[in-house]
Amino acid sequence: MLRNFFKSFLNLFLKPNCPLCDRPSDTQLCPYCQRQIFRCQFPPEKKFSKEVPLYVWGQYKGTLKQAIVAMKYNNHPEIAEPLGYWLAEGWLNSSDNINHKRPVVVPIPMFPDKQKKRGFNQAELLARSFCRATGLPLKSQGLERIRDTKAQFSLSLQQRQDNLKDAFRLGGDLRQSNVNSVLIVDDIYTTGATVKAAIAALKRHKIAVVGVIAIATTKSLSDK
Ligand SMILES: [Zn+2]
Repeated sequence: MLRNFFKSFLNLFLKPNCPLCDRPSDTQLCPYCQRQIFRCQFPPEKKFSKEVPLYVWGQYKGTLKQAIVAMKYNNHPEIAEPLGYWLAEGWLNSSDNINHKRPVVVPIPMFPDKQKKRGFNQAELLARSFCRATGLPLKSQGLERIRDTKAQFSLSLQQRQDNLKDAFRLGGDLRQSNVNSVLIVDDIYTTGATVKAAIAALKRHKIAVVGVIAIATTKSLSDK
């Protein structure tokens, strides 16, 4: 009993370790890794806009990539908290967020089986933290993924679009609502095929997408 007492006493003072570098840390990510992540942030004027305003926080590389990989594949959902907060901070400072009234925030959903296996949807967790920081309403079940999609990375753009066609439909959170403007949240923006399919699903119900935000992109600064 005494040993248990000392153990729990000690635990009061032992800090959990940073999931990226294993240093003791008061926050989900240690200050050192936070600084490294901010080196992956895009300058404020960087835009990847096409049909809809797109805001991406940073480049999918270095410590930012490491953090996203740890979050998704090494069971560290808590990393979504700071990432979602930084996403909110960056988006609020970008010009994209002005000129439209409060949209509801909808994360890109995962296929249910896949989410069950992982235990969480990282886009939803990012959206949750983003909404806490911005005060925007969250509709985490705004969309549903009705088709499992093959791994996207090995496919061409056309193949990706075919693969994703009709992959989404309106979810329970939006079916009986009068929501007419949505801000979509995803974790990584690649070709935009996923987002395009999600926008199409919302459009079928006359819901406008006022913007798309993601924490990282695989596109480089020179891409248009
Ligand atoms: Zn660290």
